[in-house]
Amino acid sequence: MGMRSLRVGRLAGIPIGVQPLWLAIVVLIAWSLGAVYYPDEVPGIAPAAAYALGLLSALLLFASILLHELGHSVVARRHGVEIEEIDLWLLGGVARMKGYPKTAGDELRFALAGPAVTLAIAIAFGAAVAALPASAPEALRAVLFYQLFVNSAILVFNLLPAFPLDGGRVARALIWERRGDLSRATASAAAIGRGFGYAMIGLGIVATMAGALGGVWLALVGLFVIVAAKAEESGLKVRTAFTGRGAGRFMSYPAVCVPARLSVAEAIEDYFVRYRYTAFPVTDGDRPVGLIDIEHVERVPTGRRTDTATLEAAITDPDLVIGEHQDVAELLERPAFQRTGRAIVRTDAGGLGILSTTDVDRALRALELEAA
Ligand SMILES: [Zn+2]
Repeated sequence: MGMRSLRVGRLAGIPIGVQPLWLAIVVLIAWSLGAVYYPDEVPGIAPAAAYALGLLSALLLFASILLHELGHSVVARRHGVEIEEIDLWLLGGVARMKGYPKTAGDELRFALAGPAVTLAIAIAFGAAVAALPASAPEALRAVLFYQLFVNSAILVFNLLPAFPLDGGRVARALIWERRGDLSRATASAAAIGRGFGYAMIGLGIVATMAGALGGVWLALVGLFVIVAAKAEESGLKVRTAFTGRGAGRFMSYPAVCVPARLSVAEAIEDYFVRYRYTAFPVTDGDRPVGLIDIEHVERVPTGRRTDTATLEAAITDPDLVIGEHQDVAELLERPAFQRTGRAIVRTDAGGLGILSTTDVDRALRALELEAA
């Protein structure tokens, strides 16, 4: 889940990523189809042909899952939610959204778009199987039948009301519609999702002990559902707490700043050792030009610290300099902030502060106390 995905290209302008484990799954599917399914379905097939059809089937499955996620993405985009990337991993795909649907109706349409695509694919393969003349080659029938089967399985599985699977999102949209409150709907949907997750793990263990290897898969999905439901729930909690609240309210102020012309060695001695903060804005006069943190200082080889300027070692992404009115919920979703964990806040009066994930965590705990 936490593994980095490999970018493999773009479709409709949306980056497509593949988790390394997914490639292993493709090989596993191709291998099992080539070793068992095709030899069973097509008597007398040559082993090389069986494995080739296995690979073809795995790639068609890959394409089906991609189309499913594109279905989600296109509909989400039409309703003003940007898609950061489509990620294919161990158990299927995820269309990563930037931001959230604005209404229950949007969420419902977004959740149903993927399964609608999968349904269309399953119907197309079903129609193709039904239309095959009796004289058609067995191999062709077997290829089409496998896609019908696997897309039907994806459809049924995704519609389980186990949030954050599609069916769980549908459930959340319906609860949201009825109660008019996204946070509570998410909590309810996540609770149902957790229940399903534990049931899947239990069933998976029983099935595995009974000798069905598919049980391992089921237990893994159960685990995913539990972890992902938790992540969705806490993500929403954070968003609700910080929406409409400016960075100036939570920053550490005033920040101690390191002049850009200092060497890294001087910055270590006069700032990192003296103040024991883990990061400082780097300034040229009053102007913030970068952010130097302890990780970037450590990366400069010991022998080069006297002749390396602090600015050279600093992070200079302009996205990390924000105004005091910057919405914190929006900031937390910025990739630059997620990478660095800190931002430089410039106040209206021209002063500089720092907002770090530690500040945000503390603020969240305080806000939760206030709300309780
Ligand atoms: Zn889906």
